[in-house]
Amino acid sequence: MPLLAHQFLRFGVLKELLKAVGFFSVRLLEHLGDTFSGTSQKSMKLRDLEPHWSGGFYGGPPRRGTGVTFICPHCMRTHLSVMFSNPLDGGEPLPGWRVYWLRSGEDFDSLSLSPSINAAPQGHWHGFITNGEVR
Ligand SMILES: [Zn+2]
Repeated sequence: MPLLAHQFLRFGVLKELLKAVGFFSVRLLEHLGDTFSGTSQKSMKLRDLEPHWSGGFYGGPPRRGTGVTFICPHCMRTHLSVMFSNPLDGGEPLPGWRVYWLRSGEDFDSLSLSPSINAAPQGHWHGFITNGEVR
């Protein structure tokens, strides 16, 4: 009898655990589903996020394409800016930034950046810009 009670208890605990895991899996799938529909059904273009090239310092020499600024694909409110290690104008990277991205492509439709852009610690987007697509 004590054994049966023990087994019953174990089964009960297991059932609770499975329920918890099941719940978690469903939540995870819902989350993945959201992510998936966000990226695969409607691929977002950088061009749709009001991108513009960064220039130079105020009062400094004129620069072109030292970085790119665009609306955060996650919240669609804040602007995100990244600076290039290889600006469009062929000049040196704009000094004073902590991180630089390697750029390929000369316009918003062909732009690729490496590595990914991670603004997740600030509650914003984490993803890639590849061939002008945002994902
Ligand atoms: Zn955001």
